Amino acid sequence: MIEVKNPIVEMDGDQMTRIIWRLVKEQLVLPFVKARLEYYDLGLEHRDASDNRVTIEAAEAIKQHGVAVKCATITPSIAQVAEMNLKKAWPSPNGTIRGILDGTVFRKPIIAKNVPTAVKSWKKPIVIGRHAYGDIYKAAEIQVPGPGRVDLVYTPDSGEPEATLIHPFEGHGVVMGMYNTEKSARSFARACIAYALDEKIDLWFSTKDTISKTYHTFFKNVFAEEIAAHEAEMAAAGIAYRYMLIDDAVAQIMKHEGGIIWALMNYDGDVQSDMVAAGFGSLGMMTSELVSPEGYYEFEAAHGTVARHYAEHLAGRPTSTNSVATIFAWSGALRKRGQLDDAPGLCAFADKLEAAVIETIEGGVMTRDLARLIHRTMDPPRESWVTTEEFIAAVAERLK
Ligand code: NAP
Ligand code: MG
Repeated sequence: MIEVKNPIVEMDGDQMTRIIWRLVKEQLVLPFVKARLEYYDLGLEHRDASDNRVTIEAAEAIKQHGVAVKCATITPSIAQVAEMNLKKAWPSPNGTIRGILDGTVFRKPIIAKNVPTAVKSWKKPIVIGRHAYGDIYKAAEIQVPGPGRVDLVYTPDSGEPEATLIHPFEGHGVVMGMYNTEKSARSFARACIAYALDEKIDLWFSTKDTISKTYHTFFKNVFAEEIAAHEAEMAAAGIAYRYMLIDDAVAQIMKHEGGIIWALMNYDGDVQSDMVAAGFGSLGMMTSELVSPEGYYEFEAAHGTVARHYAEHLAGRPTSTNSVATIFAWSGALRKRGQLDDAPGLCAFADKLEAAVIETIEGGVMTRDLARLIHRTMDPPRESWVTTEEFIAAVAERLK
């Protein structure tokens, strides 16, 4: 049994991933590691009962302990509010947590040799470094009901307001005002550089600075300053930095072999990480790590609660949901705890857990999403895949 010095914040979630969560914890973590888990139930029912306070408490706990692992959670739609009799349409827990911690989200695909990628040239992981603060996720938006002028107004703490015309409306329209801060943009650049140095992979960054001559150019310049400040370290590690326009980068990435980190502003990162996940094959093979500027870490699967599979499960039918990203969320959190606590035994366990997963898949035991990729059909032969429970049991057997 491996002892763990400091607590890990554990955030439970919803639907199919909540089922997987328990199986992973009980079969792959607790039999091997005497973890100190500080549990927060972010399942929708409990978020609703606690008026969403549990989400904020969990985020505060991450600030206290530094390392967290999170299960996927439902962001309720308007329809779900009525259906589940909720007090209100609670905001996305991830959005709430990122708003409190700030930071950068790194999304990394997990590769098994026998699972083909959808994009033929992709051989090595493409890590997306998504700035997870501000922009449209923290924007003020209004509908302009009719004719009238809309301005951006800056009122200095001591000084006169300065207005910039956005548009003189002749009729109905919409306006959005979004922001970011130098502090957050700089810590985003630093986090991406640190990640590239850690993994010894090249770093790309792209924006649309030709069009957004102030906003996007601001990001480009902050990034360039941080690169200049780390030039010697990057040269010593043999890694290169490339700045590209976003549309150029999108085209280049499709022909690239991977093995890079691609840094992106918030919205671009949101969109491109799903594109990259799909290109590598399955959403079930993509992990997500939030790194805050203060050095707090949160690990999770990049996918959602897999609602369709949960409906099957509730109907009493067997499911074949991929638990790999959820397992890697746990291994990521355990490894980070081990690094911060200077506990090499715990880091070694995380490596073994990940190796057991990859060897299980490469040994031919996998869930249906991966069998679909190998057999190149949406309906692979029944003997080519195992159930949700059987996959986790096979990993546990190998890990033992
Ligand atoms: P989803 O959970 O990402 O699943 C969409 C589809 O992708 C599934 O139906 C399945 O395809 C495939 N898939 C995703 N993960 C898989 C896995 N582990 N194994 C096998 N297949 C997988 O999205 P959703 O079902 O549309 O969203 C459900 C809820 O998740 C929503 O309430 C949303 O708010 C929430 N969500 C949460 C997070 C988070 O907490 N981080 C992120 C995204 C979404 P097939 O149906 O073809 O098998
Ligand atoms: Mg997205």
